[in-house]
Amino acid sequence: MSNHFFDKIRQSAPPAETLFLTTETGLSLTYGGLVARSAQFACALTALGVKKGDRVAVQTQKAVDCLMLYLACLRAGAVYLPLNIAYTPAEIVYFAGDAEPRLFVCDPASRDDLAAALVAMADLRIETLDPDGGGSLQQRADVADKDFADVAVGPDDLAAILYTSGTTGRSKGAMLTQDNLASNAEALVDTWRFTGDDVLLHVLPIFHTHGLFVATNTVLLAGASMLFLHRFDLDTALSLFPKATAMMGVPTHYSRLLSHSDFNRDLVGHMRLFISGSAPLSAETHKAFSACTGHAILERYGMTETGMNTSNPYDGERRPGTIGMPLPGVELRITDPETGAALPEGEIGVIEVRGPNVFTGYWRNPEKTAEEFRDDGFFITGDLARIDAEGYVTIVGRDKDLIITGGFNVYPAEVEAVLDACPGIAESAVIGVPHPDFGEGVTGIVAAKSGAQIDEAEIQARLAGEIAAFKRPKRIIAVDVLPRNSMGKIQKNDLRDQYRDLYAAP
Ligand code: AMP
Repeated sequence: MSNHFFDKIRQSAPPAETLFLTTETGLSLTYGGLVARSAQFACALTALGVKKGDRVAVQTQKAVDCLMLYLACLRAGAVYLPLNIAYTPAEIVYFAGDAEPRLFVCDPASRDDLAAALVAMADLRIETLDPDGGGSLQQRADVADKDFADVAVGPDDLAAILYTSGTTGRSKGAMLTQDNLASNAEALVDTWRFTGDDVLLHVLPIFHTHGLFVATNTVLLAGASMLFLHRFDLDTALSLFPKATAMMGVPTHYSRLLSHSDFNRDLVGHMRLFISGSAPLSAETHKAFSACTGHAILERYGMTETGMNTSNPYDGERRPGTIGMPLPGVELRITDPETGAALPEGEIGVIEVRGPNVFTGYWRNPEKTAEEFRDDGFFITGDLARIDAEGYVTIVGRDKDLIITGGFNVYPAEVEAVLDACPGIAESAVIGVPHPDFGEGVTGIVAAKSGAQIDEAEIQARLAGEIAAFKRPKRIIAVDVLPRNSMGKIQKNDLRDQYRDLYAAP
């Protein structure tokens, strides 16, 4: 009997004694250990009554055993459902009610609060997992068999449900199949040339597609290894670079590295690859990183619902401010958001994608699924972009972030790029807020570089030479830092709320 994805992991696995990961606390795990430990978790799951198709919800600190639980779910045919550690018990009630997991795995410290919040779900079992070991599920795994007969699962069987971050309306559960995960990891291993010699610096959370699937699945299918850090810490990262060959990060990681005086060309000269995604990497950061290290960061683009869609080339030019071209097997087109008609080269429209990476729909939400797919199977991403003559795709914003001011469309990314290039500005977010004359007023929120002062008049004068008047912010507001979530995405909703009365008549 075959188990679609885990069979591929077995087939590409190096000899059992090869290292799969080490942690900053000195824990290490070989590929042989991975097969044995994930078998123990799969046995524990089965003993708890988890069957093929059952959901296993997981909200814990980043831990090696958490990865083993993920692999155990693949092997047992269960559906892995990771949840952001930041969610409160009240939010968890929504996810648990929607997904109806058979088992909920949490940190020992949050067990009582969760049990109280989920008391109405009589059939739900709660177990704990502790990064240091000793959680109730780990105790079951510790004494379980190290062999497990993988459950038969095909390419179209569900492997995971990941809830979208839900910036508009409630989060939706994106249903990802075994082959969504496997095909995307295969494409990434090829495109980014991962091999058994690679050592990935893993600094991302593992409740999100980036740290869980992009990073971990790519390492697994390459038979590579990783330095598995419980979070991104500047000093730890600097001390471990000499042992790494590749890093995957969000843009904030790269700007933070650049801000450290010990970060230089010598420290990372031996590295093979730096990859960025989950949020736009400014062209400024890209160029500053190249100047500092000699490495051109490889930017890629994806989302929870689709895994990775595009990547800058490994060999060709990695063009700052672009997300590169579609990955092998992924079809991408730019369409008119209203009519769905394909647009000619260079015009701005919504990105639509189709391919083996694209999810099968939203969990128990056929209406929303129908709304976001075209009849020919293309998924409407909601990201606005254009494609240039050489095929590079440039994102100009989310369609919900599009600003319409006095009847003109303003794409935030274009204005942000000009602001980011101003001396003294570290980063910027351009939003639209209600304006009595214009409908929405373009507004720039900027954070200064350390030691720099923001002078609104000076910046306005500079913008006047670069972009049309209707695109220029009516106000530029300096803040200490821009609000970001754990994946480095600027929380524009929070900014829009905060400044909603900026142009209100007194
Ligand atoms: P998530 O589902 O949390 O992974 O968020 C997906 C969204 O992140 C995409 O729809 C984009 O809006 C954004 N995103 C991901 N990668 C990039 C990138 N390289 N540049 C710009 N936006 C990105």
